[in-house]
Amino acid sequence: MSDNCLFCKIARGEIPADKLYEDDDILAFRDISPQAPVHFLVIPKKHFSGPAAITEAEEQLIGRMMRKGNEIARKEGIDHYRVVFNNGEQAGQTVFHIHMHILGGRNMNWPPG
Ligand code: 5GP
Ligand code: ZN
Repeated sequence: MSDNCLFCKIARGEIPADKLYEDDDILAFRDISPQAPVHFLVIPKKHFSGPAAITEAEEQLIGRMMRKGNEIARKEGIDHYRVVFNNGEQAGQTVFHIHMHILGGRNMNWPPG
């Protein structure tokens, strides 16, 4: 837990979010500034600053985020989607609590900008 972290606050229910899924360990909610018709984030409730902070102990947790993300995507009506983890400012990370973006519902370009 990190007191001033935005996504920790969302995980604790201190800041509202449009939640799609929640259990003891993970939370999924819609991105406040969607970049595609479907755009949601999956986070662990425990604070990690980003992908580079993940250790062997979290391998299962990250796998669960992936599986749940896929389930939610299907429920949202998309089976083609982009998965993004940004690590570091230059990669576009703005919130330093690890989060998995899932985006879909439109054609996605490659390479990303
Ligand atoms: P990053 O750029 O760090 O990979 O992604 C952070 C994401 O969090 C952005 O897509 C941004 O729109 C989203 N975001 C920032 N603040 C909030 C918020 O208060 N609520 C929600 N639901 N999403 C947020
Ligand atoms: Zn946090």
